[in-house]
Amino acid sequence: MEYTSTRNNKLRVSSAYAISNGISSDGGLFVPTKVVHLSDEQIKSMADMSYQERAVFILSLYLTDFTKDEIEYAVNNAYSTEKFISDKIAPIKKISNERYILELFGGPTCAFKDMALQLLPYLMSLSIKKESSSKETIILTATSGDTGKAALEGFKDVENTKIFVFYPGSGVSVMQKLQMETQEGENVYVYGIEGNFDDAQTAVKTVFTDEKTKKALEENNKSFSSANSINWGRLLPQIVYYFSAYVEMFKNNEIEFGEKVNVAVPTGNFGNILAAYYAYKMGLPIKRLLCASNKNNILTDFIKTGVYDKNRPFYTTASPSMDILISSNLERLLFELYDHDDEKVKNLMTELKNNGKYKIEYEILEKLDEVFSAEFASEEEMNQAISETYKNDGYLIDTHTAVAVNCLSKSNLFGEKTIIASTASAFKFPKSVLSALSQDNDLSDLEALKKLSKFSNLEIPKPLQNLDKKEVRFDKVLKNASIKDKILEDLNIK
Ligand SMILES: *Cc1c(COP(=O)(O)O)cnc(C)c1O
Repeated sequence: MEYTSTRNNKLRVSSAYAISNGISSDGGLFVPTKVVHLSDEQIKSMADMSYQERAVFILSLYLTDFTKDEIEYAVNNAYSTEKFISDKIAPIKKISNERYILELFGGPTCAFKDMALQLLPYLMSLSIKKESSSKETIILTATSGDTGKAALEGFKDVENTKIFVFYPGSGVSVMQKLQMETQEGENVYVYGIEGNFDDAQTAVKTVFTDEKTKKALEENNKSFSSANSINWGRLLPQIVYYFSAYVEMFKNNEIEFGEKVNVAVPTGNFGNILAAYYAYKMGLPIKRLLCASNKNNILTDFIKTGVYDKNRPFYTTASPSMDILISSNLERLLFELYDHDDEKVKNLMTELKNNGKYKIEYEILEKLDEVFSAEFASEEEMNQAISETYKNDGYLIDTHTAVAVNCLSKSNLFGEKTIIASTASAFKFPKSVLSALSQDNDLSDLEALKKLSKFSNLEIPKPLQNLDKKEVRFDKVLKNASIKDKILEDLNIK
């Protein structure tokens, strides 16, 4: 399988190149030149596989320059029961009204980012070796909260890598911040920055594409890469769990084989739902994809009207990992919808950069409409979803999952069989979840964590226990413009 760039469709690179570089030098994102279509028999055959075998099966289709042994090694190390609480890795649980919760938060940081970021370091190391490079890889990551911690856990003390994480100083939850501030490992650097996630993402992208900085790194036998969801190595592992969920439902006699289901995804950077779209293009029987947003409803507007307009207020919400106005992975969807027309994509991205806005043609919007639905939830509706799901279904959900639950409940898909991607443990956002459940508002996050455990009779997930007793190693907040100098300073480059 060869890969091309959303901004240069003549380009051909290997998967190892795409993964080790993260982003194309033309500023575009790497995508496979074609989507592999699976037959019903092939999909059905996954029912009798373990999660790890399903992952090897899907990954092998796209990582054709990797050996089966390499893929198995990566998958078995990433998805082990030492790291994930369930041996199913991504279990699926039915709640009422034909809703199936796909639990993606059983990994080391209690958020779905682990599904990709436990695997990415292995894929990255293998890719770098294949590119026969002895360079040290410097991973730059902007985070809205969960990516940062998951990337740090994945890359900590991985040979020949260093990882920098930048998070919005005032945009992440207390638990997310504590998780990052207390990160262990000798090759990790964590900074807050002034501004929101989009500022962090833009700042990191600027460093990434800065020729002078790139050259300075090269002279020191280092190169940048990204652990953000723009990396194909992040997206690919996420396709696996949609197949896995479907064949589990089939195995449990919840559906007939071939029966179509919907997928509802709480969406921020458009990575998770894009993986579901790839699964759909690969032949998984999906009826519709519901893009669920919080009050930052730019994607809802885009999917309903075809106009993407980031000239609007930015809101900080109780689902911080979705507080995003520039969804990077949308570029990959545009490239698919425009049948790999790189000029079109380039023009739209230029318009976005210059005017903060673009509009797609009516025919393209119609194509989008064939499979995407969109809704958004207010903070009040999100709270209500937490309390109702707990009361009526006896199931505890976090603030992000609650956005998807609410969006589904008001969409015309409600009542049809739907997989809801549950992206974080409720214990990662204890204060918000508890106040939705009991109107208990004046506790600190750590007090709320304990109280939520008592209230729900559920144990606090191991990675979140004793966070308050760990040493804070990183508490610096940087000005946006000083990121570049800080990176060079930490790397001892003059
Ligand atoms: C990152 C994240 C999201 C958004 O996922 P995208 O792939 O960026 O759309 C939703 N919920 C949680 C808990 C997350 O960490």
